[in-house]
Amino acid sequence: MTKATSARTSSASRPMDDPGAAASSRVFVGLGANLGDARATLEAALVALRGLACAQSSWQVSSFWRSAPVEASGPDFLNAVAAFDTARTPHALLDALQAIELHFGRERPYRNAPRTLDLDLLLYGVAGVDGGRVLADERLVLPHPRAHLRAFVLEPLAELWPDGVIAGRGSVAALRGALRASGDQRIERLPG
Ligand code: ADP
Ligand code: MG
Repeated sequence: MTKATSARTSSASRPMDDPGAAASSRVFVGLGANLGDARATLEAALVALRGLACAQSSWQVSSFWRSAPVEASGPDFLNAVAAFDTARTPHALLDALQAIELHFGRERPYRNAPRTLDLDLLLYGVAGVDGGRVLADERLVLPHPRAHLRAFVLEPLAELWPDGVIAGRGSVAALRGALRASGDQRIERLPG
């Protein structure tokens, strides 16, 4: 496996030419953990996320990144981004992500509290460089409303989707470049 960016990719052929195949949507999910054995939690959460992908989905996982808490407390976070195809609707996928968070002991005692596992639906319905579905209701905002502000999202996202554009926010490359230039958010890529 090449490790030029340490992004891990595996792919299966997608059923593009199978008229009977169920419709699926490409999604990007952000993972974060800063309590307990964060690496073990992320590895186990990735296994759980794979269960949400369709059978024919290609699967991508970024490197793991260590980041300082942003508007949050506690130890450094471990972060990653995963991309896969799912047949679930956006809200059904959010339900599934929150069920996985709960399984790993996520509690929400107060806003931005330390967490064993945070799963954010960053983008839904991505096609090429197009950042997919735009929606906002009381439960779900797409693209994720803070994705464009966070180095711990943009760095791993750029590994998987370097030419991507976050709807209404700009290109991943430009957003990441601006954050890097600001030097405000400490983050480092961990060796694979
Ligand atoms: P954060 O991830 O910003 O630290 P939480 O994980 O505590 O915050 O999520 C707070 C709420 O954000 C959730 O209850 C969820 O309904 C809402 N939310 C809105 N849009 C999204 C999204 N794209 N992905 C995940 N949660 C979202
Ligand atoms: Mg969250």
